[in-house]
Amino acid sequence: MTVRTRFAPSPTGYLHIGGVRTALFNWLFARQHGGQFILRIDDTDVARNVDEALQPILDGLQWLGIDWDEGPGVGGPYAPYFQSQRSDRYRAAAERLLASGHAYRDFATPDELDAERKAAQAAGKPFIYSRQFAAFDEATAAGFAAEGRSSVVRLKMPREGSLVIDDAVRGRVEFAWEREQDHVIQRADGSCLYHLASVVDDHDLAITHVIRAEEHLSNTPRQAFIALSLGYELPAYAHLPLVAEPGSRTKLSKRKLAQYLKNKDFKQVMDHGLAIAERIGLAAEADTFNPVIVDFYRAVGYLPWAIDNYLALLGWSYDDKTEFFSRAELIEKFSLERINSSPASFDPKKLWAVQDHSMTALPTDEKLSLMLPFLVKAGLAADPAPPETVATVRRVIEAAGDRLKVAGDILAYADFFLVNAPTMDEAAVKQRLAKAGTKPLLEAYAAALRTLERFEPAPLEAALKQVVEAAGVKVGDLIHAVRVAVTGKTVGPGLYDCLAILGREKSLARIDAALPLCG
Ligand code: GLU
Repeated sequence: MTVRTRFAPSPTGYLHIGGVRTALFNWLFARQHGGQFILRIDDTDVARNVDEALQPILDGLQWLGIDWDEGPGVGGPYAPYFQSQRSDRYRAAAERLLASGHAYRDFATPDELDAERKAAQAAGKPFIYSRQFAAFDEATAAGFAAEGRSSVVRLKMPREGSLVIDDAVRGRVEFAWEREQDHVIQRADGSCLYHLASVVDDHDLAITHVIRAEEHLSNTPRQAFIALSLGYELPAYAHLPLVAEPGSRTKLSKRKLAQYLKNKDFKQVMDHGLAIAERIGLAAEADTFNPVIVDFYRAVGYLPWAIDNYLALLGWSYDDKTEFFSRAELIEKFSLERINSSPASFDPKKLWAVQDHSMTALPTDEKLSLMLPFLVKAGLAADPAPPETVATVRRVIEAAGDRLKVAGDILAYADFFLVNAPTMDEAAVKQRLAKAGTKPLLEAYAAALRTLERFEPAPLEAALKQVVEAAGVKVGDLIHAVRVAVTGKTVGPGLYDCLAILGREKSLARIDAALPLCG
C-alpha cells in the first residue's frame, strides 16, 4: 500500500500555526513512507474569492518546505483538487445513498423540525428526528412535493449499536449511534454539504491515512457511516491533540490577539517583531501581525525549518528530550505512535529557542542572503545591493554573531553602517555623551585613531585602554561614549568591530560630529 495523506484547508486568507502542525504531520508521515502528500482545498462553503484567500496558505506551506505531490499548482492524477470543482461526484454519491436506502429525502419544513426540537427539549431528551416527513420512495416524495414542500437529503443514521475506530493517537474510540442526528448531506438547491464531500474526496483521492485535528473526531461517525454505506474502506485515522494557548488547554485562536499580548512570552516575541515590522513598513498590516499566523514569523525573519522543528514537537516527541532535529531527522524519526493525546501548549519562548539554535548554526552566506532583503525593504540598501554594501553587511553579520536571532535583527545591527550620519538616540546621547568630561576623552581617542597604524579591532582596543589609563577613568566611560558617537545608539556589534567596519575616515567624522553633544 502506498501511503497517501492529505492536508485539506479551507481558504481562510491565512495559515494558522495549528494548521501547519496538521500539514506537517501529514507531510512527515507521507515522506517517511515514500508516499504522497496531497493538498486538497475544502472550498465547498467559501463565499469569498478563493484564489485570494488561498494564496497565503500556499505561500506559507511553500515557505515552510511542506511541498505537495498533488494539488493546486502541480495537478495530479486525481485532479481537480478543489471541492468546488467536484460537486458532480458528491451529487452522484448522494444519489447512490438514496438508492441504497442509507439516505432519504426529507420534506419537513424548518417550523416542523423546530417543533420536534422543542418537544424533545421540553421532555429533557436529545432531539432525534421522527422522520415523519421522510420519503423513502418516489410516490411518497411526489405526494409531499405536491403539497408544495421542498426537500433536503438526510442520512438515515443507525439508531442503535456503535462504531468503533482504532485511532492511531487516541486508541480505541467508540461512538454510540444513538447520539447521531440524521445529518443533512444535500440541500434543497441540490448542493452537497461538507461531510459528504470530504468522504467522497478521501476515497476518490485514495487517501490511506486521515491525520487531522482533534476537533474533527466528532465528525468521524457520520463520515464513517457515509463511507461504509458507499462501500468504501475506512482510512486509518489519527486525531491530533489541540494546539492550545501558552500554558492553557484552550484552543489557540487568531481572534484573541489582545489577550495574547498580555501574555509575557507572546508580548516579548511580538514587541520584537513589531519593531522590525515598523522599519519595513508592515506594522499596519494587523492581519499579518498575529503570532498565531505563520506570516508573522516569516515577516520578522524566522527560519522556516526552525518553525517546522518546533511545530513537530507540538504533540509529538522522539524521546522526551531531543529538541533540535534536521528535516531529514524528523522524516526518519517521526511516528504516529509517539503523538500525545493531551493538548499541546504553543510556547513562543520555546520556538524562540529553536530559532536561536537554528540561526546560530547558519553559515554567514546564508544569513547574508536572508538578511539583505530586510535592508532593501527598509530602504537601507539598494536592490540589488552594491558589492560594497554586501561586504559591509557580511562583516556586520560576522561581528554580531549569535546576537542576530531573527533575520530582521540585521536592521538594528547594520543600519548605522549604511547611512551617512547615524540617527542619534536622545536617551543614549543624554546618558553617554552629555556627561561632563566626555569631550576631552573623545578628543583624545580621536587623536589616537588618526595615527593608528592598523585600523583593526585589537589596536583599536589597545588605543582606547591607553587613553583611559592616561585620563584615570573607567574603560566603560569611554567605550559607551564612542559607541553612541559612531552608531547613535547603545546596541550593536562589538565596538571595535564597529569602528573597523566603518573605517578610519567615517569613524573620525562621526566622533567629530558628536563632540558638540558632549559634556
Ligand atoms: N477542511 C477541514 C479543516 O480545515 C479539514 C477537515 C479534515 O481534515 O477532515 O479543518
